[in-house]
Amino acid sequence: MRMIVWRGPVEELFVHPLVIDPRLAFTADTLGLGFGNNFVTALEFRRILDDLWRKGWTLVDVHRAASGRVLVPAGRKPLVLSEDDVNYYAYFRGRGLATRLLLAGDRVLAQLPDGRLTDQDVVPLVEEEIQRHPQFSADGARGVLAVTGYEGLFGEHEPSRPAAEARLSALADWLKTHGWTIASHSWGHIDFSTSSASSIAWDTRQWAKEAVPVLGHTDVLIYPFGAVPTDPVIRQLARAGFRIQLDIDIRARLDHRDGAVLMSRRHVDGYAFEVPDRQRPFYDVATVRDARRPPNN
Ligand SMILES: [Zn+2]
Repeated sequence: MRMIVWRGPVEELFVHPLVIDPRLAFTADTLGLGFGNNFVTALEFRRILDDLWRKGWTLVDVHRAASGRVLVPAGRKPLVLSEDDVNYYAYFRGRGLATRLLLAGDRVLAQLPDGRLTDQDVVPLVEEEIQRHPQFSADGARGVLAVTGYEGLFGEHEPSRPAAEARLSALADWLKTHGWTIASHSWGHIDFSTSSASSIAWDTRQWAKEAVPVLGHTDVLIYPFGAVPTDPVIRQLARAGFRIQLDIDIRARLDHRDGAVLMSRRHVDGYAFEVPDRQRPFYDVATVRDARRPPNN
């Protein structure tokens, strides 16, 4: 396959873990509205992947994107995909999402509350899309999976237990050898724009103590809430090893600042669906939208 060089900012999209049963997620209470605004369903995500393929996008590695020079198959455009909060928090319980991510044989699947395994989550669905369309991935790239540490990792709520730690290291090894990048989403899902430098340093130490021994080092940091810190904090985080730092915005960017490469990601969620024109280069909201999503979001 002929590869061409793409220079400059690369478009990035992010999602959260997928809603598998919309009836349980999209209720009329505050939590249900939050799921509607900030999450997409597995059905929507599958349709989005198909649209991304059809509209010429190809997944590239976040490190390559940060270098400002990526290779994509001729005729295609580079895209970095990320997933935030791949933690399957306690508040997901009973709301129609998976409970953890697991290596099962030679594939990664999500586990449902009743114990069954499903492919209706980001990692398996991306893998299936690439099987159907090998050119949806350049150089074996997949996506970025951002986890916090305060409620365990990837749905293991007691990650220091030997069985959980063994599952996590097998999962992390598989993900990394299959082109996925694991990123820090901070230990405590803290707001970097309002936290003090010392509390951020404490958070980074917690990440180093609890996540790094199990998942390995990562040089990618995804700001919780997309909240951009001050320059000295960006530098502090870069010195701690996070040389790639990602926020949330509706335009692609590639900035070098304070020892870090800063890039932006567009959110893919109920809020984004309210502005269909802006999503059209990537996916068509009218056909992607899950009929089980309430009309108000
Ligand atoms: Zn988050």
